[in-house]
Amino acid sequence: MLSFEIVRGDITRFPVEAIVNAANKYLEHGGGVAYAIARAAAGNVAEYIRISKEAMREQLGKSSIEHGEVVVTPALRLEQYGIRYVIHTVGPYCGGVWDGERKEKLRKAILGALRKADELGVKTIAFPAISAGIYGCPLEEVVRTFKETVEEFLKEARSIEKVYLVLYSEETYRMALEVLGLR
Ligand code: ADP
Repeated sequence: MLSFEIVRGDITRFPVEAIVNAANKYLEHGGGVAYAIARAAAGNVAEYIRISKEAMREQLGKSSIEHGEVVVTPALRLEQYGIRYVIHTVGPYCGGVWDGERKEKLRKAILGALRKADELGVKTIAFPAISAGIYGCPLEEVVRTFKETVEEFLKEARSIEKVYLVLYSEETYRMALEVLGLR
């Protein structure tokens, strides 16, 4: 039975089999959680960008990804925490605006990563609050969309047992718990 949990932490050292990156469509890893993951995994961000772009070419045969498409890269140094894969997905850009179209793009981004992890036989997976940082989507809506999408995924999950939404700051963690009525 799959369960969903909101936790506070740093996703670059969170002990799960797969972590998800809130990437941009070119997998450039220029800032935010993407930069943190690239640096922690490869030691060198440019090197992880190179690895990511090569993986994108191999796995999708193109040089950018759409919402719902994902690319998998090895965890490299993150293996010390038990992490085996980094799954790159792209959420919507909001700039403070939220609507049905953005919600659907976020749903696709989350579902794409969950499906890929399931295909890889992963049991535990952690997501950052995709699009709630530089992309400016309201955290409350991002959290609600996560909960709904994981519930939707319940019916098709095969290997995944646990999905974590990892919030980086105490403030965002508290907000996320409040949104779901957990405190
Ligand atoms: P986006 O461009 O999709 O909005 P960001 O990287 O700007 O992506 O932010 C997504 C979320 O990830 C933000 O809430 C940010 O605070 C959070 N974040 C940043 N670094 C980490 C980290 N090391 N672990 C977990 N979450 C992080």
